[in-house]
Amino acid sequence: MGDRLNYQEIAWAERRVDCYDGPNCDQHRALWRAHFDGDMDSEDMYRDLPLDPKQFPPGTKVVIMVPVCPKCDQQVEMCEQDKSCDFDWKAWAEGQYS
Ligand SMILES: [Zn+2]
Repeated sequence: MGDRLNYQEIAWAERRVDCYDGPNCDQHRALWRAHFDGDMDSEDMYRDLPLDPKQFPPGTKVVIMVPVCPKCDQQVEMCEQDKSCDFDWKAWAEGQYS
């Protein structure tokens, strides 16, 4: 219904392989390398992303995108903290998903 919002990428993850796992350093272990917008470093995670890396082939990429406010042009979290913008995200979600 014309409610299409713009999206901003805030996090990326790549399904990588630790090629030196095991006692002989010759086994592959699944991991995600995740990078969050604003962080200097990437993080290697052997746990779920919450997507289990063992469920996806090496090379898989995950991009997390959040909606951008159509009124103030900030991503949803910043918009909600910004008292000068009155965009109603609760009403938006209800219009979108109820
Ligand atoms: Zn806003």
